[in-house]
Amino acid sequence: MSILKVARMGHPVLRQKARRVEKHELKLAPMQQFIDDLIDTMREYAGVGLAAPQVHHSVRIFVAYLDPDGRGDSEPLVLVNPEIEFVGDEMVEGWEGCLSIPDIRGRVPRAANIKVTAMDRYGKRMEIAAKEFPARVIQHEADHLEGVIFIDRMRSFETLSFMDEFSRHHARNDEDEDDDDQE
Ligand code: ZN
Repeated sequence: MSILKVARMGHPVLRQKARRVEKHELKLAPMQQFIDDLIDTMREYAGVGLAAPQVHHSVRIFVAYLDPDGRGDSEPLVLVNPEIEFVGDEMVEGWEGCLSIPDIRGRVPRAANIKVTAMDRYGKRMEIAAKEFPARVIQHEADHLEGVIFIDRMRSFETLSFMDEFSRHHARNDEDEDDDDQE
């Protein structure tokens, strides 16, 4: 197990479009090792999601906990070459953070309902429907594969907050949301 170094905002790898992963690559031991390391790194930094470009590896893979309450117990989901389809046109705004932009929070509009097709870590095709928080995490991580970070998606920077100020002024007003999640 290795904890990988997380790229922070300003590193060019976060702005590259990541390349697709071929199915046969998933059979290679170093690729499986990388996926394990990606999961370990997400756990180490208590993230709810982590995309490969965030650890300086520009491939279309991310890992995420889609059930934030089950974090730690449940195995995270591994998505390879994910394709997102919006279901309906409802958008919801919610707080996001990012391991590549430490200690910053901001409100980001996201599609409320999505459908995702991808391969799992063994190359098996999967299709999942997601809404609310899991849908937000998936869109945030999928953006990393396109070189997009959450502040690019904000409608305005009015809510952009340091973590301390977020906790002091905003967290209490949004008790239904998870305050300290970073993706
Ligand atoms: Zn992120």
